[in-house]
Amino acid sequence: MTSAFTFNASACSGCKACQAACKDKNNLPTGVLWRRVYEVTGGSWQRNGAAWNNTVFAYNLSMSCNHCLHPKCAGVCPVDAYSIRPDGIVVLDTTKCIGCGYCAWACPYGAPQYNPETGHMTKCDLCFDNLEQGLPPACVAACPLRVLDYAEAVSDGGLQLWDIPAEKHPYPLPIYSHTQPRLAIRPHATMSRTENRSLANLEEVRPRLPSSWEEAPLVLYTLLTQMAVGGFWAMTWMFPMLWSLVQFDATVLRLLPALLIGCSLSAGMLVSFAHLGTKKNAWRVLCHLRKSWLSREILFTLLFGLGCLVTTMQMFQHYTNLGWITLTSLLGFCLIYSMARVYRLPAAPGWNTWHTNVEFLVTTLLLGLSSMMPLLVYEANLTGIQVLPSRLPIIHISILILSLLELALMNKRTLRGLLQKARIGLIVGAVLLAAFGFMGFSIGVAWFGVLIPLVVLVEEGLGRWLFYQSRLGVVHAR
Ligand code: SF4
Ligand code: SF4
Repeated sequence: MTSAFTFNASACSGCKACQAACKDKNNLPTGVLWRRVYEVTGGSWQRNGAAWNNTVFAYNLSMSCNHCLHPKCAGVCPVDAYSIRPDGIVVLDTTKCIGCGYCAWACPYGAPQYNPETGHMTKCDLCFDNLEQGLPPACVAACPLRVLDYAEAVSDGGLQLWDIPAEKHPYPLPIYSHTQPRLAIRPHATMSRTENRSLANLEEVRPRLPSSWEEAPLVLYTLLTQMAVGGFWAMTWMFPMLWSLVQFDATVLRLLPALLIGCSLSAGMLVSFAHLGTKKNAWRVLCHLRKSWLSREILFTLLFGLGCLVTTMQMFQHYTNLGWITLTSLLGFCLIYSMARVYRLPAAPGWNTWHTNVEFLVTTLLLGLSSMMPLLVYEANLTGIQVLPSRLPIIHISILILSLLELALMNKRTLRGLLQKARIGLIVGAVLLAAFGFMGFSIGVAWFGVLIPLVVLVEEGLGRWLFYQSRLGVVHAR
């Protein structure tokens, strides 16, 4: 038998006794609310001749985790910290959690909440300890009007959210849920009204999410990892001809690009590790390869790193194994693909499109080409070997095409704002620089070699930053 919360919105007074009882029982710190009472207000005063008609309305909605039939939180967690009990309650094992915050991205209801004091995620467990003793959940016991309850079989007359399409869910519940929340609501008479509708207590119920600054390590991780993968792909095409023509021991020349790739990848892994709330559990991240794209992303990061290491050691011995290079390149592709899948969540519809996959691939190529270009220019000038006339035009035209693609893929919904305008300006700058480089590549090669990667790096950094900000926008709009 499975249990579900039931809520009679038509009789809720908004006293918030349920919210307070939950906070008290679970000893939740400031800013963490497993149960939240949303205060929805709307309507206005309208003049009708000499009279004023009042169309104002208000209702309350008490929400916590809905112990969904298809809990996305459980599917994405890389350490498999979520489990579904036989009675349907979705439980989080905080002793396994690494505090990565990914389940909070995936849940459309803001249910998993990060506790900064303990460094891990927390959420409602339907007081299963009470249920096992035959007692009701704390929130249900505290409700003075008996409008909040839980039931195994839900009475008719309510909106049984697991049964109706998400677009029929009452405001402010999201219309993009794919989790089949186990919650039944007896609607308030005004729940279908939309005039001037808004959340009166947004600041109170807004889930505590990391700010953009707290997400900066993830911005850096994606950028540095994409640069490493793109750099590896670019290196295997750009340098072998030059190295094969060098008359002296070219070990240092061979190691320069490998060093840049290794440093980018290691720095990316370090900053993402530093971002975890509970680092001691990091060893568990490969525990959920069966379902979690985050687990797979980490696996491919490690395998790609290993492939780079083996290739570098082979380069030390002036030996090239095409099999290893192809395998490492493929692992890099799998890494970028799983990275994109991590961001493709139904709870963030703006990201959940093929655009994300293509954008990540384009960024990887852009960063790889532009970061390897200065090294190629340096090594060609140092050795005096004439590889630039055959390589640079292709690099410039590729950067030009990729930048234009990036421009075409930009999310129209986030085009406003100063940062986005700055980003567009930088892309146009990269296009112009690449076009100039293509037309007159023998003039100012060194300048272009430094300027293009700088412009691309700043532009991509801004792009990632806006990407993370759009997530905060999605959650805060609830
Ligand atoms: S409401 Fe969110 S946290 Fe709760 S089970 Fe559903 S997806 Fe998971
Ligand atoms: S490991 Fe990450 S996804 Fe899993 S419960 Fe903890 S914060 Fe959520």
